[in-house]
Amino acid sequence: MKNTMELKLPSLSVNEGFARSVVGAFATQLDPTLEEIADIKTAVSEAVTNAIVHAYPDNLGEIRIFASLENRSIYVVIQDTGVGISDIEQARQPFFSTAKDESRSGMGFTVMETFMDEVSVISAPGMGTTVKMKKKIGIAG
Ligand code: ATP
Ligand code: MG
Repeated sequence: MKNTMELKLPSLSVNEGFARSVVGAFATQLDPTLEEIADIKTAVSEAVTNAIVHAYPDNLGEIRIFASLENRSIYVVIQDTGVGISDIEQARQPFFSTAKDESRSGMGFTVMETFMDEVSVISAPGMGTTVKMKKKIGIAG
């Protein structure tokens, strides 16, 4: 079975919860455990929050979410066309944050890496950011 979905949302903070619920509901087709669903939702939440908070700091922009189910794996892509990231390796370090206040702990990418099997980040200043994640569901291939 291969199934796909696409979602396009403005970077309003209310859409963080919506996006995580949509991808979580889509993932249920793979018959995941509650823990696997929670992992996927948490990872999506971190990526979408980053697009809302960091990609478009002073304005609203577009967030695109693609997900596909194939071979008992879920693939999720979260894409923005915002400010982009100049040093991706540094951004992925635990506790690294460009947020000046105390509200951000710098753990978003670390959380995504912990809960998903693969995380890749494509980004450049002014070019936006694309986060691709994969998680295998269950043990059977
Ligand atoms: P937390 O997620 O713990 O609240 P955080 O968002 O700062 O804090 P990460 O999610 O790990 O931490 O992101 C690290 C840094 O990478 C951010 O501070 C920001 O500078 C940059 N970043 C992440 N996602 C994006 C994005 N979509 N667009 C632009 N910059 C981003
Ligand atoms: Mg974050």
